[in-house]
Amino acid sequence: MSNHSDIHEELMEKLDELTSRLNKIEQDIHHRESPVSADFAEQATETENDEVLAALEDETSATIANIKNSLKRMEQGSYGVCAVCGVEIPEERIKALPYTDKCFDCADQ
Ligand SMILES: [Zn+2]
Repeated sequence: MSNHSDIHEELMEKLDELTSRLNKIEQDIHHRESPVSADFAEQATETENDEVLAALEDETSATIANIKNSLKRMEQGSYGVCAVCGVEIPEERIKALPYTDKCFDCADQ
């Protein structure tokens, strides 16, 4: 039975960081929704930025969901075990990707 308190702390910090990043991204997106009187070149750039922001927003909220899931699994004592096949996730993978809930093989599929 390993102690995950270090990882728990790391996840909490990451969660804080990502939550404020997500808020910032959402503010940026909202800010851009207001009518703009830009020329075509600027509008094209804004569309690109919006796509980047939307992708970033998706990625950030997916990571937040994974972190919350990991924290919940820690509470329940199922952290570190693959959610798909039930195998123990190798320590090196947990260190590299602390909010994963799948082993190498299952993450690959
Ligand atoms: Zn697995």
